Amino acid sequence: MTGTVLALAGGVGGAKLALGLAHVLDEGELVIVGNTGDDFEHLGLAISPDLDTLLYTLAGLADESRGWGRQDETWKFMAALGRLGGPTWFRLGDSDLALHLERTRRLAAGETLSAVTDGLRRKLGVVSRILPMTDDRVRTRLRCDCGWLDFQDYFVRLRCEPAVQALDYVGAEAARPVPEVIDMLGGEDLRAVVICPSNPFLSIEPILAIPGMRTAIANCRAPVVAVSPVIAGQAVKGPTTKMMRELGLAASASAVACRYADLLDAFVVDEADAAMAAPEGVRLVTARTLMTCLADRRRLAQIVLAAADAEADR
Ligand code: GDP
Repeated sequence: MTGTVLALAGGVGGAKLALGLAHVLDEGELVIVGNTGDDFEHLGLAISPDLDTLLYTLAGLADESRGWGRQDETWKFMAALGRLGGPTWFRLGDSDLALHLERTRRLAAGETLSAVTDGLRRKLGVVSRILPMTDDRVRTRLRCDCGWLDFQDYFVRLRCEPAVQALDYVGAEAARPVPEVIDMLGGEDLRAVVICPSNPFLSIEPILAIPGMRTAIANCRAPVVAVSPVIAGQAVKGPTTKMMRELGLAASASAVACRYADLLDAFVVDEADAAMAAPEGVRLVTARTLMTCLADRRRLAQIVLAAADAEADR
């Protein structure tokens, strides 16, 4: 089958599957909608961590062992900043810095975040389109045992240690989705919507919180398939299952499926979770979902597309 595949993604987990999809689809068939709830301003720079992870991963520039930033990075700027007594808790490599400076410059000149991101991905040689969920300002905040925290304070400075009681996507209510995304969801050419294995609370739900997004996905003609970010009750990386427990949910693939149940046609879970009960109306597909190499990413992407195409045929 052909047509546009729209993938919703956060950072590392989402980018892994997005890379697999980019490899198995034809040029121009994949459009990725990235979370911008993690975005923040730091040292006067506009930083979009999830969009950057997508850009670097799809460009083959990501440092996969560190899990963020660029490979072969140098750190002269950070060292110099530290010597001047500047803030060094959020690490910015020299090459990474260039991306943030260029984005900040273009935003200040009046370009939208989607136009800037599109320009950057072209320069980095990424053929798949990468769009932010909105060009408006949305900021994820977390209510923890110590009070409300900005996302990067929670995630980087406090290393996800505080217990999370609630989340707020500040600005989401008034934000507008990027129009092309809504057009694609309403269009005839859509083959599938893929919800990548990203953190539900920090990556996917901020996207779904943009007014019109959830309804457009629920009403689209194409099948919607999600991949579980939880394998046998554990996150591969990051605070997903810690947060689930703190929010009073079961730390399980099944609890993730329930959060998207109104949208899903199929849910891809790991073989380890084959016994889970799927929400009503959602088909369960089991696969090896741990992606440790490019072949894993491609294989899982094929399985996701096959699941979507099978739903379309029903
Ligand atoms: P972040 O914004 O960088 O934290 O990244 P995401 O929100 O996109 O992804 C975090 C989630 O990805 C975590 O819940 C991980 O369990 C999940 N994840 C990471 N690698 C894999 C993988 O290889 N397979 C699956 N199924 N999930 C993964």
